[in-house]
Amino acid sequence: AKRLGRNRCVSFTAEMNQQMQQRINLETFLHGAVAAGQLQLVYQPKVSLHTGGIVGCEALLRWHHPQLGMIPPDQFIPVAEESGLIVPISAWVMRTACLQAKAWFDAGLPRTTVAVNISAYLLQQDLSVWTLDVLQETGLAPELLELELTESMIAQDVERTIGIFDRLTAVGIRLSIDDFGTGYSSLSYLKHLPVDTLKIDKSFVDNMLIRSEDEAIVRSVIRLAHSLKFKVVAEGVETAEQCDVLRAYRCDEIQGYYFSKPVSAQAFETLLREGTRL
Ligand code: C2E
Ligand code: CA
Ligand code: CA
Ligand code: CA
Repeated sequence: AKRLGRNRCVSFTAEMNQQMQQRINLETFLHGAVAAGQLQLVYQPKVSLHTGGIVGCEALLRWHHPQLGMIPPDQFIPVAEESGLIVPISAWVMRTACLQAKAWFDAGLPRTTVAVNISAYLLQQDLSVWTLDVLQETGLAPELLELELTESMIAQDVERTIGIFDRLTAVGIRLSIDDFGTGYSSLSYLKHLPVDTLKIDKSFVDNMLIRSEDEAIVRSVIRLAHSLKFKVVAEGVETAEQCDVLRAYRCDEIQGYYFSKPVSAQAFETLLREGTRL
Protein backbone atom coordinates (compact mmCIF):
# COMPACT_ATOMS: atom_id res chain seq x y z
CA ALA A 1 0.00 0.00 0.00
CA LYS A 2 2.91 2.27 0.86
CA ARG A 3 4.56 1.67 -2.48
CA LEU A 4 1.33 2.32 -4.33
CA GLY A 5 0.96 5.60 -2.47
CA ARG A 6 4.45 6.65 -3.42
CA ASN A 7 4.01 5.73 -7.04
CA ARG A 8 0.81 7.60 -7.19
CA CYS A 9 2.52 10.61 -5.70
CA VAL A 10 5.37 10.38 -8.20
CA SER A 11 3.12 10.06 -11.21
CA PHE A 12 0.94 12.89 -9.94
CA THR A 13 3.97 15.17 -9.69
CA ALA A 14 5.19 14.13 -13.12
CA GLU A 15 1.80 14.84 -14.54
CA MET A 16 1.72 18.21 -12.84
CA ASN A 17 5.14 19.05 -14.22
CA GLN A 18 4.02 18.06 -17.66
CA GLN A 19 0.90 20.19 -17.41
CA MET A 20 2.91 23.12 -16.12
CA GLN A 21 5.47 22.67 -18.90
CA GLN A 22 2.69 22.57 -21.48
CA ARG A 23 1.20 25.72 -20.05
CA ILE A 24 4.54 27.55 -20.12
CA ASN A 25 5.09 26.45 -23.71
CA LEU A 26 1.62 27.60 -24.73
CA GLU A 27 2.16 30.92 -23.02
CA THR A 28 5.49 31.44 -24.78
CA PHE A 29 3.97 30.60 -28.14
CA LEU A 30 0.87 32.66 -27.46
CA HIS A 31 3.02 35.76 -26.88
CA GLY A 32 4.01 35.82 -30.52
CA ALA A 33 0.70 34.62 -31.93
CA VAL A 34 -0.97 38.00 -32.48
CA ALA A 35 2.08 39.59 -34.07
CA ALA A 36 2.74 36.51 -36.20
CA GLY A 37 -0.81 36.60 -37.55
CA GLN A 38 -1.59 33.13 -36.20
CA LEU A 39 -4.94 34.17 -34.78
CA GLN A 40 -8.03 34.09 -36.92
CA LEU A 41 -11.72 34.69 -36.39
CA VAL A 42 -14.42 32.39 -37.69
CA TYR A 43 -18.07 33.37 -37.72
CA GLN A 44 -21.06 31.23 -36.79
CA PRO A 45 -24.46 32.36 -38.07
CA LYS A 46 -27.38 33.11 -35.75
CA VAL A 47 -30.65 32.37 -37.52
CA SER A 48 -34.11 33.71 -36.74
CA LEU A 49 -36.75 31.06 -36.10
CA HIS A 50 -39.36 33.68 -37.03
CA THR A 51 -38.04 34.45 -40.53
CA GLY A 52 -35.53 31.65 -41.18
CA GLY A 53 -32.92 34.24 -42.21
CA ILE A 54 -29.48 35.03 -40.81
CA VAL A 55 -29.65 37.90 -38.33
CA GLY A 56 -26.13 37.89 -36.95
CA CYS A 57 -23.05 35.90 -36.14
CA GLU A 58 -20.71 35.09 -33.28
CA ALA A 59 -17.00 35.69 -33.80
CA LEU A 60 -14.96 32.76 -32.47
CA LEU A 61 -11.21 32.71 -32.07
CA ARG A 62 -8.93 30.18 -33.76
CA TRP A 63 -5.20 29.75 -33.24
CA HIS A 64 -3.18 27.98 -35.91
CA HIS A 65 0.33 27.35 -34.68
CA PRO A 66 2.81 26.24 -37.39
CA GLN A 67 4.14 23.37 -35.21
CA LEU A 68 1.39 22.69 -32.68
CA GLY A 69 -1.40 22.86 -35.24
CA MET A 70 -4.89 24.07 -34.39
CA ILE A 71 -5.25 24.85 -30.68
CA PRO A 72 -8.89 25.14 -29.55
CA PRO A 73 -9.94 28.27 -27.62
CA ASP A 74 -11.00 26.18 -24.61
CA GLN A 75 -7.30 25.35 -24.20
CA PHE A 76 -5.60 28.68 -24.81
CA ILE A 77 -8.14 31.22 -23.49
CA PRO A 78 -7.47 30.14 -19.85
CA VAL A 79 -3.72 30.52 -20.49
CA ALA A 80 -4.33 33.93 -22.03
CA GLU A 81 -6.42 34.96 -19.02
CA GLU A 82 -3.87 33.91 -16.43
CA SER A 83 -0.96 35.50 -18.25
CA GLY A 84 -2.72 38.78 -19.00
CA LEU A 85 -2.38 38.13 -22.74
CA ILE A 86 -6.17 38.16 -22.89
CA VAL A 87 -6.04 41.98 -23.07
CA PRO A 88 -4.07 42.36 -26.33
CA ILE A 89 -5.80 39.28 -27.76
CA SER A 90 -9.27 40.65 -26.97
CA ALA A 91 -8.28 44.02 -28.42
CA TRP A 92 -7.36 42.24 -31.62
CA VAL A 93 -10.61 40.21 -31.62
CA MET A 94 -12.78 43.27 -31.03
CA ARG A 95 -11.06 45.34 -33.71
CA THR A 96 -11.07 42.52 -36.28
CA ALA A 97 -14.74 41.63 -35.67
CA CYS A 98 -15.85 45.28 -35.88
CA LEU A 99 -13.83 45.92 -39.04
CA GLN A 100 -15.35 42.81 -40.59
CA ALA A 101 -18.93 43.75 -39.70
CA LYS A 102 -18.31 47.27 -41.04
CA ALA A 103 -17.02 45.79 -44.31
CA TRP A 104 -20.18 43.65 -44.65
CA PHE A 105 -22.32 46.70 -43.94
CA ASP A 106 -20.41 48.83 -46.47
CA ALA A 107 -20.77 46.08 -49.08
CA GLY A 108 -24.55 46.44 -48.77
CA LEU A 109 -25.06 42.90 -47.50
CA PRO A 110 -28.19 42.05 -45.47
CA ARG A 111 -28.02 43.48 -41.95
CA THR A 112 -25.94 41.36 -39.61
CA THR A 113 -24.81 41.87 -36.04
CA VAL A 114 -21.48 40.55 -34.81
CA ALA A 115 -21.09 39.12 -31.31
CA VAL A 116 -17.78 39.08 -29.45
CA ASN A 117 -17.04 36.97 -26.36
CA ILE A 118 -15.89 38.98 -23.36
CA SER A 119 -13.67 37.40 -20.75
CA ALA A 120 -14.35 38.25 -17.09
CA TYR A 121 -10.74 39.45 -16.85
CA LEU A 122 -11.58 42.38 -19.12
CA LEU A 123 -13.86 43.89 -16.50
CA GLN A 124 -10.74 44.81 -14.54
CA GLN A 125 -10.07 47.35 -17.25
CA ASP A 126 -12.75 49.78 -18.28
CA LEU A 127 -14.36 47.70 -20.93
CA SER A 128 -16.68 50.55 -21.96
CA VAL A 129 -13.95 53.10 -22.80
CA TRP A 130 -12.03 50.50 -24.70
CA THR A 131 -15.04 49.24 -26.69
CA LEU A 132 -16.23 52.75 -27.60
CA ASP A 133 -12.72 53.51 -28.92
CA VAL A 134 -12.86 50.49 -31.22
CA LEU A 135 -16.30 51.51 -32.52
CA GLN A 136 -15.11 55.01 -33.24
CA GLU A 137 -11.96 53.80 -34.94
CA THR A 138 -13.75 51.24 -37.12
CA GLY A 139 -16.91 53.25 -37.78
CA LEU A 140 -19.21 50.31 -37.01
CA ALA A 141 -22.72 51.27 -35.85
CA PRO A 142 -22.98 50.33 -32.12
CA GLU A 143 -26.31 48.58 -32.83
CA LEU A 144 -24.43 46.00 -34.88
CA LEU A 145 -22.12 45.03 -32.02
CA GLU A 146 -23.14 42.52 -29.39
CA LEU A 147 -21.09 41.45 -26.38
CA GLU A 148 -21.52 37.96 -24.93
CA LEU A 149 -20.93 37.83 -21.19
CA THR A 150 -21.15 34.97 -18.73
CA GLU A 151 -23.18 34.90 -15.55
CA SER A 152 -20.14 34.42 -13.33
CA MET A 153 -18.58 37.67 -14.45
CA ILE A 154 -21.64 39.65 -13.44
CA ALA A 155 -21.82 38.18 -9.96
CA GLN A 156 -18.29 39.40 -9.15
CA ASP A 157 -18.83 43.12 -8.61
CA VAL A 158 -22.45 43.92 -9.37
CA GLU A 159 -22.39 47.72 -8.91
CA ARG A 160 -19.28 48.27 -11.00
CA THR A 161 -20.47 45.83 -13.65
CA ILE A 162 -23.84 47.56 -13.95
CA GLY A 163 -22.01 50.89 -14.38
CA ILE A 164 -19.91 49.53 -17.22
CA PHE A 165 -22.91 47.81 -18.86
CA ASP A 166 -24.97 51.01 -18.67
CA ARG A 167 -22.27 52.97 -20.49
CA LEU A 168 -22.15 50.34 -23.23
CA THR A 169 -25.89 50.06 -23.77
CA ALA A 170 -26.35 53.85 -23.61
CA VAL A 171 -24.74 54.11 -27.06
CA GLY A 172 -26.71 51.15 -28.46
CA ILE A 173 -24.39 48.16 -27.98
CA ARG A 174 -26.31 44.91 -27.25
CA LEU A 175 -25.44 42.65 -24.34
CA SER A 176 -26.27 39.00 -24.01
CA ILE A 177 -25.78 36.42 -21.29
CA ASP A 178 -23.86 33.43 -22.62
CA ASP A 179 -24.17 29.81 -21.41
CA PHE A 180 -27.37 30.72 -19.60
CA GLY A 181 -28.46 28.20 -17.01
CA THR A 182 -24.98 27.00 -16.06
CA GLY A 183 -24.22 29.83 -13.60
CA TYR A 184 -25.97 31.27 -10.61
CA SER A 185 -27.98 34.24 -11.80
CA SER A 186 -31.74 34.16 -11.56
CA LEU A 187 -34.02 35.85 -14.03
CA SER A 188 -35.28 38.27 -11.39
CA TYR A 189 -31.69 39.37 -10.81
CA LEU A 190 -31.03 39.75 -14.52
CA LYS A 191 -33.93 42.10 -15.01
CA HIS A 192 -31.90 44.78 -13.19
CA LEU A 193 -29.15 44.52 -15.80
CA PRO A 194 -29.30 46.25 -19.19
CA VAL A 195 -29.12 42.89 -20.96
CA ASP A 196 -31.51 41.98 -23.76
CA THR A 197 -30.63 38.46 -24.81
CA LEU A 198 -30.16 35.09 -23.12
CA LYS A 199 -28.27 32.29 -24.80
CA ILE A 200 -29.46 28.91 -23.54
CA ASP A 201 -26.44 26.70 -22.97
CA LYS A 202 -25.74 23.87 -25.38
CA SER A 203 -25.89 21.28 -22.59
CA PHE A 204 -29.66 21.85 -22.18
CA VAL A 205 -30.25 21.76 -25.93
CA ASP A 206 -28.20 18.53 -26.17
CA ASN A 207 -30.37 16.72 -23.62
CA MET A 208 -33.67 18.39 -24.43
CA LEU A 209 -35.04 15.48 -26.47
CA ILE A 210 -33.58 12.82 -24.17
CA ARG A 211 -34.42 14.04 -20.68
CA SER A 212 -37.76 15.57 -19.81
CA GLU A 213 -36.08 17.68 -17.07
CA ASP A 214 -33.93 19.46 -19.65
CA GLU A 215 -36.92 19.92 -21.91
CA ALA A 216 -38.80 21.51 -19.00
CA ILE A 217 -35.87 23.82 -18.26
CA VAL A 218 -35.62 24.96 -21.86
CA ARG A 219 -39.36 25.54 -22.09
CA SER A 220 -39.57 27.49 -18.81
CA VAL A 221 -36.48 29.59 -19.48
CA ILE A 222 -37.93 30.66 -22.83
CA ARG A 223 -41.32 31.49 -21.33
CA LEU A 224 -39.91 33.40 -18.34
CA ALA A 225 -37.35 35.20 -20.48
CA HIS A 226 -40.06 36.39 -22.83
CA SER A 227 -42.26 37.62 -20.02
CA LEU A 228 -39.26 39.72 -18.90
CA LYS A 229 -38.78 40.93 -22.51
CA PHE A 230 -35.56 39.07 -23.20
CA LYS A 231 -34.76 37.60 -26.59
CA VAL A 232 -33.73 33.93 -26.43
CA VAL A 233 -31.06 32.23 -28.53
CA ALA A 234 -30.45 28.48 -28.32
CA GLU A 235 -26.86 27.43 -28.90
CA GLY A 236 -25.46 24.11 -30.08
CA VAL A 237 -28.53 23.16 -32.14
CA GLU A 238 -27.52 20.14 -34.22
CA THR A 239 -30.72 18.51 -35.50
CA ALA A 240 -33.99 19.33 -37.24
CA GLU A 241 -35.87 17.79 -34.29
CA GLN A 242 -34.22 20.19 -31.83
CA CYS A 243 -34.97 23.06 -34.16
CA ASP A 244 -38.66 22.07 -34.43
CA VAL A 245 -39.09 21.80 -30.67
CA LEU A 246 -37.37 25.16 -30.09
CA ARG A 247 -39.61 26.77 -32.69
CA ALA A 248 -42.69 25.30 -31.01
CA TYR A 249 -41.50 26.84 -27.71
CA ARG A 250 -41.14 30.22 -29.46
CA CYS A 251 -37.36 30.43 -29.11
CA ASP A 252 -36.26 33.45 -31.19
CA GLU A 253 -32.96 32.37 -32.73
CA ILE A 254 -30.75 29.34 -33.06
CA GLN A 255 -27.03 28.91 -33.51
CA GLY A 256 -25.49 25.52 -34.18
CA TYR A 257 -24.10 22.98 -36.59
CA TYR A 258 -27.63 22.24 -37.85
CA PHE A 259 -27.54 25.50 -39.79
CA SER A 260 -23.78 26.05 -40.00
CA LYS A 261 -20.50 25.46 -38.20
CA PRO A 262 -18.34 28.53 -37.59
CA VAL A 263 -16.94 29.51 -41.01
CA SER A 264 -14.42 31.95 -42.48
CA ALA A 265 -15.44 35.57 -43.06
CA GLN A 266 -15.58 34.86 -46.78
CA ALA A 267 -17.85 31.82 -46.37
CA PHE A 268 -20.14 33.75 -44.02
CA GLU A 269 -20.35 36.55 -46.56
CA THR A 270 -21.44 34.00 -49.18
CA LEU A 271 -24.24 32.77 -46.88
CA LEU A 272 -25.39 36.39 -46.45
CA ARG A 273 -25.10 37.21 -50.13
CA GLU A 274 -27.01 34.14 -51.23
CA GLY A 275 -29.67 34.69 -48.58
CA THR A 276 -29.25 31.13 -47.29
CA ARG A 277 -32.19 30.26 -45.04
CA LEU A 278 -33.07 27.70 -42.43
P1 C2E B 1 -19.02 29.76 -26.45
O1 C2E B 1 -18.95 31.23 -26.37
O2 C2E B 1 -20.09 29.06 -25.68
O3 C2E B 1 -19.11 29.41 -28.00
C1 C2E B 1 -19.88 28.38 -28.54
C2 C2E B 1 -19.03 27.16 -28.82
O4 C2E B 1 -19.88 26.08 -29.22
C3 C2E B 1 -18.03 27.35 -29.96
O5 C2E B 1 -16.89 26.56 -29.67
C4 C2E B 1 -18.80 26.77 -31.16
O6 C2E B 1 -17.96 26.36 -32.22
C5 C2E B 1 -19.47 25.60 -30.49
N1 C2E B 1 -20.68 25.17 -31.19
C6 C2E B 1 -21.62 25.94 -31.78
N2 C2E B 1 -22.61 25.20 -32.30
C7 C2E B 1 -22.30 23.90 -32.02
C8 C2E B 1 -22.95 22.65 -32.30
O7 C2E B 1 -24.03 22.57 -32.91
N3 C2E B 1 -22.32 21.52 -31.85
C9 C2E B 1 -21.13 21.56 -31.18
N4 C2E B 1 -20.58 20.41 -30.78
N5 C2E B 1 -20.50 22.74 -30.91
C10 C2E B 1 -21.08 23.88 -31.32
P2 C2E B 1 -15.40 27.14 -29.84
O8 C2E B 1 -15.32 27.99 -31.07
O9 C2E B 1 -14.48 25.98 -29.72
O10 C2E B 1 -15.25 28.09 -28.59
C11 C2E B 1 -15.22 27.57 -27.29
C12 C2E B 1 -15.26 28.67 -26.26
O11 C2E B 1 -14.06 29.46 -26.29
C13 C2E B 1 -16.40 29.67 -26.47
O12 C2E B 1 -17.60 29.11 -25.97
C14 C2E B 1 -15.89 30.84 -25.68
O13 C2E B 1 -16.15 30.68 -24.31
C15 C2E B 1 -14.38 30.77 -25.89
N6 C2E B 1 -14.01 31.74 -26.94
C16 C2E B 1 -14.00 31.59 -28.28
N7 C2E B 1 -13.58 32.72 -28.89
C17 C2E B 1 -13.32 33.62 -27.90
C18 C2E B 1 -12.85 34.99 -27.87
O14 C2E B 1 -12.61 35.64 -28.90
N8 C2E B 1 -12.69 35.56 -26.63
C19 C2E B 1 -12.98 34.88 -25.47
N9 C2E B 1 -12.79 35.52 -24.30
N10 C2E B 1 -13.41 33.61 -25.46
C20 C2E B 1 -13.59 32.99 -26.66
CA1 CA C 1 -20.32 32.87 -26.77
CA1 CA D 1 -22.13 29.86 -25.19
CA1 CA E 1 -20.15 27.30 -23.92
